[in-house]
Amino acid sequence: MVARLKSGQEIVVIGAGVIGLTTALCLQEAKHQVLIVADDFPSPSETIDPRRQINYTSPWAGAHNGWGVDLPNANSTPQDCRDHGFALRTFAKMRHLHNEYSDAGVTFMKGVQLYEDRPDELKDIGPERAAELGIEDFSFIPPGEFPEGVTFGYTFRTWSVNPMVYCSFLLRRFSMLGGKIRKQHIRRPEEIFAMHGLPDVNFVVNASGIGFGDPDMFIIRGQTCLVANDCDVTVSRRNADGSGSYCIPRKYSGGTIIGGTFEPNNWDSEPAPGKREQMLQGLAKTYPPILGKSGRFAPLQDIVGRRPARKGGMRIEKEDLDHGRAVIHAYGAGGRGYELSWGVAHAVCELVARK
Ligand SMILES: Cc1cc2nc3c(=O)[nH]c(=O)nc-3n(C[C@H](O)[C@H](O)[C@H](O)COP(=O)(O)OP(=O)(O)OC[C@H]3O[C@@H](n4cnc5c(N)ncnc54)[C@H](O)[C@@H]3O)c2cc1C
Repeated sequence: MVARLKSGQEIVVIGAGVIGLTTALCLQEAKHQVLIVADDFPSPSETIDPRRQINYTSPWAGAHNGWGVDLPNANSTPQDCRDHGFALRTFAKMRHLHNEYSDAGVTFMKGVQLYEDRPDELKDIGPERAAELGIEDFSFIPPGEFPEGVTFGYTFRTWSVNPMVYCSFLLRRFSMLGGKIRKQHIRRPEEIFAMHGLPDVNFVVNASGIGFGDPDMFIIRGQTCLVANDCDVTVSRRNADGSGSYCIPRKYSGGTIIGGTFEPNNWDSEPAPGKREQMLQGLAKTYPPILGKSGRFAPLQDIVGRRPARKGGMRIEKEDLDHGRAVIHAYGAGGRGYELSWGVAHAVCELVARK
């Protein structure tokens, strides 16, 4: 892969997941020259190794915007409200990419949220509150239309992406705008400042997903199943026991993701036996149209991924070092990296601009 920055260029982004790629593009839009250094770069899903690259989270996501229990409510923290702003910024950018680039891998569709018990976080949600929060086309589902066991639900307009089509698109845009890449493992962000051939680097963005030894980081395992069945809506259901099922159409010949598990601190890299059947049956009961004319699922691949989560939420912070240098941290997106990506990227650009 490519190597040297031209003289006068100044920012290195560590990481080529959705956060690093989006941030790199945003920095370019702000007229910075950017080099991405990473172990893993996007490529077609079929070429991503499920074991060797399990810690590269972006390929294993759905990925959609859910508008569920993360929505701000009376008990939300400032962090939750910040993240909602990030999600809105991302929503607007996804619409722009969808409208302007047919190869971006972004699709707009109906979203459905279903609950066996209405969560406290969604006590106040309704058309008026949804409009205040910037949610489009919000509508309650009439009780007569609930799947068995569901007592609360609503629909809205949202987006989904085919992760590797989308991330490859971001990388292509980055390259077209003159960005450079280097495939290399980094032990510490500070290592970048000592790299040969990068004389003027003052900023390093740490978009490494899991960070570098942050004790607040943990992983949340997610097991899903990719099926060939096509689908035009994204559906999420949360059961009273905390389990759930969802489907996320990837489109762009990418099938549909059926999920899924949410297992903090479970490092098991292998699909759990029996889980696939449980997830497929759960979703078929909740949303029978997923089975299509054949009346069956066409499973392609069991997927295990590790969401890079952080106690207290994502770290977006500038750490000043000697000689006017700084590391800007942007990691720990948990299960919302795609949803938050353009907001995070914008926040990083603001930290750079503040100097
Ligand atoms: C099953 C599942 C479903 C999900 N569904 C959704 C969804 O529907 N919507 C949503 O928004 N999110 C979803 N997510 C979460 C989303 O995938 C993550 O939040 C996101 O991918 C994190 O992106 P990232 O760029 O921070 O990290 P990563 O994608 O992990 O990228 C990290 C990058 O840093 C590089 N790197 C790390 N350490 C080093 C090092 N030491 N040296 C060099 N390079 C390094 C890696 O090579 C890689 O390029 C899901 C996740 C899972 C597992």
